[in-house]
Order: sequence, then C-alpha cells, then structure tokens
Amino acid sequence: MLIKQRSEPLELTILKTLNARSLLNATDSVHFHNLDKGYRGEIMFDEYMKEVSNENNLILNDLLLEYKNTIFQIDSLFQFSNSLHLFEVKNFEGDFIIDDEKWYSIGIMRKEIKNPLLQLKRTESLLRQLLQELGSPFPIEAHLVFINPNFHLYKAPADQPIIYPSQLSRFREKLKSRSAVLKASNRKLAKQLLSLHMEDNPYARVPKYRYDGLEKGIVCPGCQGFYGAGSFKMPHLICNGCGMVEPYETAVLRSVAEIRMLFPGVKITTNLVFEWCGVFKSKKTIWKILAKNFKRVNQGKVSYYIDSN
Ligand SMILES: [Zn+2]
Repeated sequence: MLIKQRSEPLELTILKTLNARSLLNATDSVHFHNLDKGYRGEIMFDEYMKEVSNENNLILNDLLLEYKNTIFQIDSLFQFSNSLHLFEVKNFEGDFIIDDEKWYSIGIMRKEIKNPLLQLKRTESLLRQLLQELGSPFPIEAHLVFINPNFHLYKAPADQPIIYPSQLSRFREKLKSRSAVLKASNRKLAKQLLSLHMEDNPYARVPKYRYDGLEKGIVCPGCQGFYGAGSFKMPHLICNGCGMVEPYETAVLRSVAEIRMLFPGVKITTNLVFEWCGVFKSKKTIWKILAKNFKRVNQGKVSYYIDSN
C-alpha cells in the first residue's frame, strides 16, 4: 500500500524554471541535469514497482530523515511484515567499471564517480540506528537498484546488494509473492517515519536569481521552451516547438504558481502576471483569469489577488 508518494523536489522545480528562463553556469547546469536524471529514474522505479503495492506492504517514497544531526535521504522504503527493504535508485546510463573498490564511468573519458554502494551503506546504517531509537528494530535489506536498461557494469561483483536492470523483474515477482499480513507494529513504524520526514531539504542548492534577470514568457511544460507569439489558438496555446496544446487559462495559472514559487510572498497583480507571461496582447485576459480564480484585495491600482479559500 502506497503511504507516501514522491513529488518533484522543489530544488528541481526551481532549477527547471531557472534553466528555461536564464543561462545557468556550468556547475549549476550539471547539478540540474543530475537531479533531473535522478528524479526521472526514481519515477521509473515507482512505475515499475507499482504492482508490488498491496495490503501486505507499506510503501514510503522519498523520505528525508535525520539521525543525530545527520540528514539522509531514502529513495524508497518497502515495509513487509517482518522486514524492511531500503532502495537506493540510480539512473546511470552507459558503461561503468569497478576497479579496486572505486567506481568509474567509462564513456569518452574514464571518470571516477561516487561509490553508490558506500552511499547505500551509509543510509542503511543511519536508518538502522534510527529504528533502534524508535524501538522498531526490523531487519533491513538494502538494495542498490540500477533502473536504466542502458546501464552496464564491467567486473560486476556478485556478492553485493545490487539489482541490475535484467534482474528487476524477477526481484519484483519475489516481492509480490510475499503474503504475510502486516502487524500493528508495521503501521506504527510507518507513522513514525512519516512524522519524522522533513519537507525542506537543507542541502538543496539553488543559485541566486532576481526577477529582472529572468526571461519573461510562458514556459511550455512539454519542451521547456517558450510559447511563441504565434502560439495563440484561443482558447488554447499550441507550442511551436513540441506541439503541446494547453488551455491558456491553465498556462496562466501555472505561471502564477511559478511566480509564487520563485518569489514567495510577492503580491500577485494583473500587471505582474501580464509582464511575466509576456505573450498576451491585452491585460484584460489576465485580469479575467485572476478575477475568476482568486480573491481580489483592494480596488484599482493597489489591488492584488490571494487564494479564494
Ligand atoms: Zn513545447
């Protein structure tokens, strides 16, 4: 049973917007693409494991926990009657090799990467200590999952807790066949972990940005490019880049959400949204959408919009 869903990390959502509206420097750009790729891998994993979910398990995705001032992240945690399965999901693509316990990607160049097994061990150890403190010493089985079918590891060790793409389906069948009934202690632990989950990742790294430094326009959710001037086919916007069709009202509301995310606390006015969206010829369209979906505070030039409930 799915207890906690995964949602796109705020850090990634902000970086996505900044990437569409400005030129990220090389470091931020690499960070953004890594986060994006990692997240897509986790979504692939969720999708793949969907059918494991039943009344005999509790599934918690994307937990951010703390033990003794050390923050650690769990990609997925599957709780069965007598055991916990901890998953670290990697969306690595291409050829890799382990040499003397060091991991290398071997594309055009051989480049050392962080050893994902060490990361898994660290997470497992912190989780084990946390469970002990909570009085729930369930045994943990930790797994490093390579979700991308285009991943290959040379000199792959057989004695490590790794699940390769070609093993995933058998592994999933094994989990599905578990039929022991959950106990009260399982549900108690899931509740405890949920209550300990931290919403804000203190390690999130977002570059500094200013309103003036960001390009204005409506970003297409399909290709992350801007809807051009020729996109209007009322009541829709049609992207010249990817063919995405979106009602313009939805696009404006998305833009409002984007402004609020990037500039929390800013007053949502017709002028601001008009300028941010860029492509509209008349403020009247914006004004109508805001009036329909939000509650207006004040009249005339000093008016702004807040949530209606
Ligand atoms: Zn598009």
